Amino acid sequence: MDLELTADEQKLVEYAKQAVVQYNQIRHANGGVDTLYSFVLSDKGNIYDGASFESNIGVDCICGERHAIANMVLQESYTSKIKSIVVADSVPEVQPEGTPPCGNCRHVIWRHGTPDTCVILMQYIMGKSGWTFPKLEKHLIKDLYPHPFNPKPGLWDNFQPK
Ligand SMILES: [Zn+2]
Repeated sequence: MDLELTADEQKLVEYAKQAVVQYNQIRHANGGVDTLYSFVLSDKGNIYDGASFESNIGVDCICGERHAIANMVLQESYTSKIKSIVVADSVPEVQPEGTPPCGNCRHVIWRHGTPDTCVILMQYIMGKSGWTFPKLEKHLIKDLYPHPFNPKPGLWDNFQPK
């Protein structure tokens, strides 16, 4: 895993660290707890936030990654592409690997990104005096989702049984 970050990725990571602290402070002030956040850098250079949305029926839940991507589409359009995405998840102590996107999110990142869209896994820990960010990992979506679901338009056009 290559931990060299581009200038854009560094900017996104620094934004994510500040936003995680701000959102967690709001959540804690209102009786909530830490959660998984995601931050998208679009190809237009804008950053969009998302957080896990949990409900009491499983299918109603929305992952933080798709929340952030939906915000990108809302503010830009479906033509925008994800340049990089941070997945920031709370852990009790440093884990060997950060939380990767689920299968649905891997597909949506791939669909709204490019094969080289960067996925940065960020672990964060709540301490007595704030939050720390002890570990980052960097992947490309083509490595996390090597065989994408990609139906071919026109595959069945003019089909005749032989
Ligand atoms: Zn997901």
